[in-house]
Amino acid sequence: MEYQKITRKERDCLVTVVENTSKGFPMKLADLSRKLKIKPPTALDLVRRLEKKGILESKKGMIIPTAEGIKRYEIIIYAHRIIECALKDSGESDVDSCLEAAGYDYLVSTNLVSEMDHLLGNPETCPHGKRIVRGEANEYQSL
Ligand SMILES: [Zn+2]
Repeated sequence: MEYQKITRKERDCLVTVVENTSKGFPMKLADLSRKLKIKPPTALDLVRRLEKKGILESKKGMIIPTAEGIKRYEIIIYAHRIIECALKDSGESDVDSCLEAAGYDYLVSTNLVSEMDHLLGNPETCPHGKRIVRGEANEYQSL
């Protein structure tokens, strides 16, 4: 399955929306713009772009991820945690590993992530102690 490419800002927007709607409530545009530290019109533009890509849905300033958006998020987070583990192993601090991983966790192919995961010995948690969930990520061949 091929995915539409997303930008770094779209990635940050998706991650923020999924993490703030995990209890089933939609996210307000005002809260999204505050969390992303961007103006509401800029946040709305990001949301519109992600709607066109089938990743988010919005109604009257309330935003939720689509099922595809959630899958996409899970793949990004899986890549994020594996990259963090690899960077940490090569001597980076937890904070630097996280910041650097966010720079390309949304670009790297799941094949490469699975390979890195295997080479790292399938770690159970990232350097911050968050659980690494493999789940459906392995069904997808590329981002
Ligand atoms: Zn982490």
